[in-house]
Amino acid sequence: MTILVNSSASRQQIRRILDVLHKNGWESFVVHEPTTRIVGVNPKHGVLQAPCLDGLPGVERVIHTSSQFPLASREASPENTVVDIDGVRVGGREFVVVAGPCAVESEEVLIETARAVKKLGARILRGGAFKPRSSPYAFQGLGKQGLKLLSKARDLTGLKICTELLDPGNLAMVCDHADIVQIGSRNMTNFALLKKIGKLKKPILLKRGMSAKVSEFLMAAEYLLAAGNPNVILCERGVVGFDQATRNILDLACVPIVKTLSHLPIIVDPSHATGYREYIAPLSRAALAVGADGLLVEVHPRPAHALCDGRQSINFAQFGEIMAQLSALAKPLGKTVNADGARTRAR
Ligand code: PEP
Ligand code: MN
Repeated sequence: MTILVNSSASRQQIRRILDVLHKNGWESFVVHEPTTRIVGVNPKHGVLQAPCLDGLPGVERVIHTSSQFPLASREASPENTVVDIDGVRVGGREFVVVAGPCAVESEEVLIETARAVKKLGARILRGGAFKPRSSPYAFQGLGKQGLKLLSKARDLTGLKICTELLDPGNLAMVCDHADIVQIGSRNMTNFALLKKIGKLKKPILLKRGMSAKVSEFLMAAEYLLAAGNPNVILCERGVVGFDQATRNILDLACVPIVKTLSHLPIIVDPSHATGYREYIAPLSRAALAVGADGLLVEVHPRPAHALCDGRQSINFAQFGEIMAQLSALAKPLGKTVNADGARTRAR
């Protein structure tokens, strides 16, 4: 169960609620953001009766749920959560587009890409300064230098910056430069990392583990919410499959499932899901149609020369075409895309 605590509740009243839970054998976790909530957990899996807390001083509302992710669950909030990144709102009417190279490779490539995607309607620039690579000999990213280049790109274009945190030791440095910290697929179950970053209020893009069930994905989000960070954006990026035709299998069904089970926003990454640029346009349209809150795509000025993920990267003309298609599709779906005039600008 989740207990929403009255905003004027005193410390003693909160203590009393915790005491009642404790005396009835329930464990409790206090979460302070965005308002104070107490998650009551029945450690005996349903054997214990829920104590009656309604009417207790300081209790605003009690939500009875057996969800494994009580804070992320739809029961916790009938309203969709909108994550506001300094004016860029993910989870509202706008289908927000995140675009940029897989890795920050050089100042030239990054700034050229930032300017182009901004002009075509992207709101957020992506690019890894620290890259999780399968081979230790593959390009690992420019590290701190890459972060500085991302900050420069933000200063020049006004785009928000999304970049991945790999090593918890780099948390402060990454947060200094990023507007959104990405937790990659390989780290979705790095619970120590989730707990650490959950203590901050920084918006987080949590990518689905490549073999994670939807429930595990939402429990990873719960780690962040339980640690006190309500600014969580989910990202479906494909799950492992048996077919070599694509890099992963884009699980678009995950979007309406997440929307049913949770109030958190979810965006779709067709780049890592498919691994091939020719599938990015149709799946971007599908992401909008299926109800996602945005898109993450890899864009590079010269994909054939990209230092990583070139095969799945699209060029500026292809990105412009996708933005124009999304723009046309958004209206009948009751959504907006920041691509007004993208067609004319792209010419
Ligand atoms: C990425 O977005 O750069 C990335 C490595 O993605 P994923 O964690 O989904 O593989
Ligand atoms: Mn990539």
